[in-house]
Amino acid sequence: MLTPAIPSFAFLTSGLQSPSAPKNGLADLVATFVTAAFDPNPVVVENLGESAVTLTRRAISSCALGDHPRPLRRTVNRNQFLAACYVETLKAPIEHLIVGLGLKHGRTTKISRVMHTVGSVRSVDFTPAMVAAIDAHYQSAHAAEVLLFHNHPHNPFNVLFDNLPVASATDRRLMLKYVLHPVHLAKAASGGGRVRFYIGENEFVGEFTQPHWLDLLRAQSGEAVG
Ligand SMILES: [Zn+2]
Repeated sequence: MLTPAIPSFAFLTSGLQSPSAPKNGLADLVATFVTAAFDPNPVVVENLGESAVTLTRRAISSCALGDHPRPLRRTVNRNQFLAACYVETLKAPIEHLIVGLGLKHGRTTKISRVMHTVGSVRSVDFTPAMVAAIDAHYQSAHAAEVLLFHNHPHNPFNVLFDNLPVASATDRRLMLKYVLHPVHLAKAASGGGRVRFYIGENEFVGEFTQPHWLDLLRAQSGEAVG
């Protein structure tokens, strides 16, 4: 039987962004916030085991930026990894992208390696070395799981609203390119590992899982999504 090739994550080089001044005015802004209301509740990132969080933070901060994965001294669970990402980027004035590579283990992920790169105030891109490592890891085992965390530095939205993390339309389109691929859907549906997308913003960590509402509306009316 032919096994479908697992597609590359080369699309990830299109990068992640903070929500910016809406192109289409108020409709864009409202849709961005309304969509976020359907994402899961924020992740609890407190009281998760000081030593696990500390060793993960050390690995993140000592990574060669944008380069190959750095092994952790021992595996940490998903929320410990996210807590380390949260603390590392809490006051950061620019966007950071932190990748956790691990194995799905029951309802959590056991993370064993990390990668880290930095971007600008409003965006951050994957490097080719990171994409190659994600590809290799994701194909290495059925349970292989990838956590993608990026932060949104303080922006005009945080000042106006005490909001939970809000993924930009760009962030959500990147997530959907992965989620909607039949091979990834099949792997996740058969109990395999997934790629999961997280944002640190306004002192919260949240996962984003929903398509942007304006994209849904445009798709329904047959309009091309830019
Ligand atoms: Zn973003």
